[in-house]
Amino acid sequence: MAVKAEILSNQQVSRRYFHLKVKVPNKQLFPVQAGQFFHIKCSDDAKPLLRRPLSIFRINEEECTLEFLYLVKGVGTKALAQRKPQEKLDILGPLGKGFSLKEESENILVVARGVGIATLSALAFKAKSKNISCFAIISARAKEDYLVEAELKEAGVEAIFVNDEDGTSDPQRVKLLAEALIKEKKIDGIYTCGSRRLSVLMKQVACEHQLFAEIALEENMGCGIGSCYGCVCQIEEEERIRPVRICLEGPVFPLEKVVFA
Ligand SMILES: Cc1cc2nc3c(=O)[nH]c(=O)nc-3n(C[C@H](O)[C@H](O)[C@H](O)COP(=O)(O)OP(=O)(O)OC[C@H]3O[C@@H](n4cnc5c(N)ncnc54)[C@H](O)[C@@H]3O)c2cc1C
Repeated sequence: MAVKAEILSNQQVSRRYFHLKVKVPNKQLFPVQAGQFFHIKCSDDAKPLLRRPLSIFRINEEECTLEFLYLVKGVGTKALAQRKPQEKLDILGPLGKGFSLKEESENILVVARGVGIATLSALAFKAKSKNISCFAIISARAKEDYLVEAELKEAGVEAIFVNDEDGTSDPQRVKLLAEALIKEKKIDGIYTCGSRRLSVLMKQVACEHQLFAEIALEENMGCGIGSCYGCVCQIEEEERIRPVRICLEGPVFPLEKVVFA
């Protein structure tokens, strides 16, 4: 469903990232699930023509508000960063398939890189509402790129932050951290987003420890509703590799099935 949402705030939260909060006219587009996304018309001008997909970061059905966290990257997100409170923003969604939390789950691990924490924060809040403990490894380029520390605390997440600058984000080190958490905290599910390298690593870890695992994939998108086939990725199922559209069949997939090129 496309609605005109009112921008409540659109603030820069660090050197490269913005936080956007909007109010939607009514509850019609709820429920919104962690892992789903909205396809956003960043500007009222003809350019950029295509919408840009952003994952839901925080959901407040009671107050009809949605929040997004985004990296200012190119023409679309630069235009979005210019938008001001009280302006109307054309958002299409919620789209795609969200994360699944198993009924019997007690302790989950989220492994995020960069703005991948946006979608995984929404999952952490969902986990909290179900009394599931959430642990996190958050990877970033530099300490100044650490995002949403306050929100993670609010969601009760025990987070370990690692970064490229001091070498703590080295994949082998992250693997050791993840394996220690799996053992000590009795992790029963892994969720990842934001880095191909970490996703490959987590696929291996989940496989070795026989853990349920999901990934939220990100790919450049055209229509966002399955018509253009612009966001196809490969899935391996029953010993067969088949193409799937991230916007329609994802963006969340079982990690074990995703074929990383
Ligand atoms: C499901 C999903 C969820 C996501 N969630 C988040 C999130 O929560 N936060 C976040 O920061 N990022 C998220 N992303 C990534 C985000 O969508 C991209 O960073 C964003 O689309 C970049 O747009 P841009 O215009 O700023 O960058 P650009 O690099 O300028 O454009 C992005 C793509 O659109 C193409 N493009 C640009 N202009 C045109 C045009 N006129 N015609 C045709 N193609 C064009 C470019 O070639 C490029 O492939 C998500 C992506 C997906 C798929």
